[in-house]
Amino acid sequence: MPVPQAPMIPLPEPQSTEHFVTIHAFETGYMRCRQSVFIDGLLGDANVGSWRFFISHAPSNTKLWFDLGMSNDLTDYPPSIQERHQKFFDAKPAQNTLRDDLKALNVKGSDVGFVVASHAHWDHMFPAKQYLPNATVLCGPGTLSLTQDTWPSKEDSEYDGRIWNPQRADLPIRELPSQLSAPEQYWCRVGPFDKGHDFFGDGSFYLIDSPGHMSGNLSALCRTQTHTGELRWVLLAGDCIHSPHFVQHPEAPFGCHLPTPSGCIHSDPALARDTIRRISALKTGDTRVLVWLAHADSLEGQWEFDLPLGSSASKGVKGWGTV
Ligand SMILES: [Zn+2]
Repeated sequence: MPVPQAPMIPLPEPQSTEHFVTIHAFETGYMRCRQSVFIDGLLGDANVGSWRFFISHAPSNTKLWFDLGMSNDLTDYPPSIQERHQKFFDAKPAQNTLRDDLKALNVKGSDVGFVVASHAHWDHMFPAKQYLPNATVLCGPGTLSLTQDTWPSKEDSEYDGRIWNPQRADLPIRELPSQLSAPEQYWCRVGPFDKGHDFFGDGSFYLIDSPGHMSGNLSALCRTQTHTGELRWVLLAGDCIHSPHFVQHPEAPFGCHLPTPSGCIHSDPALARDTIRRISALKTGDTRVLVWLAHADSLEGQWEFDLPLGSSASKGVKGWGTV
């Protein structure tokens, strides 16, 4: 059966030398599982990171994080996360804290305005008010109805009330509007994606509605520059894709024997497949695109950018190479 191709419209060129964001990537630890968790039939172990990305937009003087990765303190999670998920993925946190990473960037935590949660899984978010006292958490449409029963009120919930309970959260949390409730032109087409939100209004940073992994799943498309001034688009793909093979092989079979309702790592495999096809179309449609997965072991083309890209603070990952 022919596979539907995602249509790609050209990505918007910058209208000014200012219309870019900068990205800094930081390691937050490692996880390990079989590669077959991600792609059925793939042999070997996956030793993957869990990245957090610092985004800065100079014209608006806005600083934000896209995902926070894993906390350096694995005991600061709901019991069900510690007992099940951290063990399944053999999680090993980095030693660097969010404070260390801000220090490496020479940025005050109080100057960070937002944390964008690609989705509500534990390895992307943790309570961060102590580091980012003025930040607002942003999440994709549908997240808060999924996470409404939070720990500790619901003892075995995977969702930490300090983040996801709007009445009790440490930081204010705001869900992006759905297509139905959003103002006109809030969501617009960008590249191969039907719904992108032009966050700064200058085409430099789009939050992309990227359904399939879980409700409210987001990715982000960033227009940035290499250290020699060449334009690069970086798609922060979050958990839309777990193995880089999917970028070249969007029809690769999902791992299918997991103890989840769908049997795979995505809650809606058909929607996840559609999102993967669009990401693949983005990559093949513009040679300037890099795709950075939340759980890649390394980030393609990272050598083209200025340091620090998670350079100094992320050295000395606890436990790595010793287990
Ligand atoms: Zn994840």
